[in-house]
This record gives sequence, structure tokens and C-alpha cells, in this order.
Amino acid sequence: MNVLSIDVSAATTTLQPLGLTIEKQYVGARGVATRMLFDLFEPGRDALDARAPIIFATGPLTGTTFPMGSRFIAAAKSPLTGTVFNSSCGGRLGVHLRKAGIDVLIVTGKADRPSYLFVEDGNAQVFDASPLWGTEKSHVKAYLREKHGKDVSILLIGKAGETGVLFANIENDGRYLGRGGLGAVLGSKNIKAVAVKAKGGNRINVPDPDMFSFVAYECKKWLAANPVTSEALPQFGTGVLLNLMREMGLLSSRNYRDPAPFESANISGEMVTSTLLKKRRACPFCPVACGRITRYGEGPEYESLWSLGANLAIFDLEKVAELNALCNELGMDTISAGVVVAMACELAEKGVIPLSPAYGDANAVSRIINEIAQRTGPGAILSQGTKKISAHFEVSDAGAEVKGLELPAYDPRGAYGNALGYATSNRGGCHLPGYFIGTEVLGIPKLLDRFGVQGKATLLARQQNAFAFMDTLCLCRFAAFAIPTDYHARIASAVTGRKFTWEETQQIGERIWNLERLFNIREGVEPDTLPRRFATFPLEEMFREYYAVRGWDEAGVPTAEKLETLGLP
Ligand code: SF4
Repeated sequence: MNVLSIDVSAATTTLQPLGLTIEKQYVGARGVATRMLFDLFEPGRDALDARAPIIFATGPLTGTTFPMGSRFIAAAKSPLTGTVFNSSCGGRLGVHLRKAGIDVLIVTGKADRPSYLFVEDGNAQVFDASPLWGTEKSHVKAYLREKHGKDVSILLIGKAGETGVLFANIENDGRYLGRGGLGAVLGSKNIKAVAVKAKGGNRINVPDPDMFSFVAYECKKWLAANPVTSEALPQFGTGVLLNLMREMGLLSSRNYRDPAPFESANISGEMVTSTLLKKRRACPFCPVACGRITRYGEGPEYESLWSLGANLAIFDLEKVAELNALCNELGMDTISAGVVVAMACELAEKGVIPLSPAYGDANAVSRIINEIAQRTGPGAILSQGTKKISAHFEVSDAGAEVKGLELPAYDPRGAYGNALGYATSNRGGCHLPGYFIGTEVLGIPKLLDRFGVQGKATLLARQQNAFAFMDTLCLCRFAAFAIPTDYHARIASAVTGRKFTWEETQQIGERIWNLERLFNIREGVEPDTLPRRFATFPLEEMFREYYAVRGWDEAGVPTAEKLETLGLP
């Protein structure tokens, strides 16, 4: 793997091969990025310190024709959570990087003025972006295409990234590195955008094309035979989950205080398809095409329909789509934005902050979101996320977060394994690292009683390991609906030429998971927990089982024996 490092303070670059030991132990994207972040990040440094790296890494599937396999990962210390933060994206940046001869791009330093990077042919250059700072995204994209060609892949931040909103996101070709404030990391380096030009005709070769084609063919058949990946997601996008989650009591409203009402059906994926959809959008080489291009641009997807809709008691789909488009333009994570505004509404109702309650009032929400992006008025403190809002107003239990990351659209009281997944996630309150909703609601790989407590830790840990390995290959999480995780070894063998077993894929995932945990311990991240509001079941019992399964001590710290087994420092 080729690693291009650029220090934007001095505009110096180096292109080096990745050490073979790291490549063998970590394989690609999430694994390699986590290891490099662990090694490069000086302990205790602020996430927005100029010397803090942000890493963009590809995996062995990126740029091949494998279905759902052309994603890439960004990794940094999150300014929102203080944790290690890996984020997966389906834009074209990863494909273009590999076709430019780069597998990993590391950005450090701080440019002396607003700048952008242009990456081509194994090298990166820093250009002045002063005329682009503070302008609309469409202008930035048009400018970069004019300068560097219409086929460049463009990664960029919005105003929220420029001003340092701690949940600012990064866009790449209409897809998002959504969570954890990675947009603020790029903004703190004065980097507005990264444009990558792929070398025309460059193919990503695989060692055994026949085996690769056969495994890809098998996976396409699975995807075509599965109702989620062949019908539900293509027809209705991720919003197809909304009605189901409401019916199961997993969709909440008003900052997780009420169950979402029946009128949530107005903002479902079915309604998006029937009233707003212009066309579907696919990440590179994906037959599922779950993305939605609507009259309002990209989305809204399931999480945004909830966070900016049901969560804020807004059930007018056009209004939710407008709020989603506003967040996209400003470059702000829609989940965190919606949860922060919902918390502000609750605190306003309690008289804690001087703000007009905005539940159900889309205009008021729009105004607050703009203030957050500008960091003016109440937006100054709201831009810091729920955890810092709680500390600022000295309140407890109004912020729906774990380790500072705002919780997503599945109420933890409705599925206890998913709740354990939130609590133990290394990047904070997120459903994706273990995606136990698949198990407790959709029955993948098997249906478990969602209110059960015992016996879930083993399967959750296995899924966390398996999904860490998927992020390492750069295979989309939604592939797990149709392609069994024990098939990952066959995919990895076909694309790398190295023989993998299921046990090895589990061990690599476990190594990544433990290394992420070590990073967090080194940075003094708080222990696993859930907000008091959700502690309606024996979570401590689940922690005990989970830590035992993981081979950790009672405080959730990996033991020396476990680290030795995994070859970790
Ligand atoms: S299923 Fe959706 S998110 Fe996943 S690769 Fe396909 S289009 Fe992208």
C-alpha cells in the first residue's frame, strides 16, 4: 500500500510504502487507519491541534468491481467525543485515490490561509482557497471542476467545518463522512476541499481474476435474492425502516421522551419515494443504490427523517427535506444537529436556556441550525454538542449521547443488544459498529428476543469484529443483510490472494476493536455507559458478560494476556 503524507503547514509531501507487518496485521482501510492514527497521534493532544492527523484510507476492494466494495475510511481523533473516530463513505474519493497511485492519504499541519488540496499521480499540492471560503458548496465544486477537470472526485466541508462546529461533517460526491466532527478537523487545518484526479485507464488489478469474478458473482446472487437488498432498500432507501421502527416502539419523539406518533408515516421512506424522489443514487459498483436524490438534493435518509422529523415533532415531509438540505449545505451531521436541537427544546421548556421551544416549528429549527453553523447566539454553545451543553448548563440526563456522540434513530429501550452496542461502541453512541438492530429486529443472522439480556454479548462482540473487518475491506455495512459474515474470508482471499480463514477475519476485527479501545483509554475517554433516561434494564449485567467475552477486566480495559494474543502494544 502506498501512503502519501502531506503537511499542509509547509506544503511538503512524502510517498512511502506501508510496512508489510502493518499491512499483514491490519489489511486495509479501518485497520490500517486506526493503527496509523494510534502511532502518529501524540497522546493528550487536542483533536483540533494542527499536528493531529486526519487519515483517508482505502481497502483492498476499493476501486475493484466488487459489489458494494468501493468505499473508503476517514480516521481522526474526534473533536466531539475525544475518541478514535472511523467513518466510512461511499463517495468516489477512495476509487480515485487508488487510481492516482495512493492507498492512504495523511493530512497534518495547518495551512496559513484557506486552502484546498489537489491530488494527482501520487502527489498532492496545496492551492489557495481564499475565494472559496464561506461560499456555497455548488460554487466550490464548480470552481474545482473548472480548474482540474469535471471528473475529479471532490471532498469538501461546509460553513460548519469552517467555523469549527464539533459535529461538522465532510461531503464527498454527495455522500458523507457524517459523524464525529471530522469536518471540523479538516476546517481546523484551513483545508476547504480535496480534489482527486484518477489516472485514466488505471485499473485496480486483483491477483486471481477468475476467483475474484466468481466470488463477486456469488455475492451478486445473494444480493439479488435478499428482499432487503433487492427490493426494500432500492425502492424506498433507508427510510423504509421508519414505519417498521415506529410500529415496534423503537422510534421516539421530543428528545426520546415520547414514542413517535402514527403521523410519522408522513415522513417515511415510502412517502419520500412517492412524493420527492427524482432518482436513486448508488455508491461506485453498488447494485443496491439505496441513496435518494430528491427535489431537495441528497436525501433525506432514515436517520435524518427521524432526527430532523419525528425527533423534533415535525411531520411535514417537505419541511424535513428542507432542514436536511440545510444541514447538507452547511456541512453538519443531521443526527447530531437534530438531537442537539431537541435537547435545546427540552431545556427551553424547563426554563434552563432562553430559547423559544421549537418542537414542531420547522422555521425555528432552521433558524437555530443556521445559528449553530455561524456559532452565534445560542448556536455558540449548541455547536459544541450535547455533552458540552450539559456541562455548560450543569444539567444531567437531557443529552441523548454516549461518550459525547448523539444517539441515532433506534431507541435503546426497545432493543437491549443494540443499547449494549451504543454503550460499548468505541466511537460513542452509534448503531453501526455492531448493527444489532439487524439481529433484534430483522433477524440477521438470527432473531433474538430484543428485550433479552443474557447471551447477547458473544454475538455483539462477533459482529463488532466482523464489521470492523468489513470496514477494512471497504465493504458496505448493508451487504451484511444478504452476505453472511463468514463469507468475508472468501472475499478477502479472492481480492488479496492471501488465504484467510473466518477465525483470522475475526481476529483482525478484534485487533482493530482492541486498538481503538486502547486509543480511547490513552485519551482518558469515559467508561462505557448509557444516559440515565435509558437505564431501564440491567445494563451492568450485560457489561459484565460483554467484558468477559472480550477478555477485558471489569472496568472494560483489555488485559495484558488479551493484548499479547492480538500482538498489540
Ligand atoms: S447499499 Fe447504499 S450505502 Fe451501501 S454501497 Fe450501496 S448505495 Fe452505498
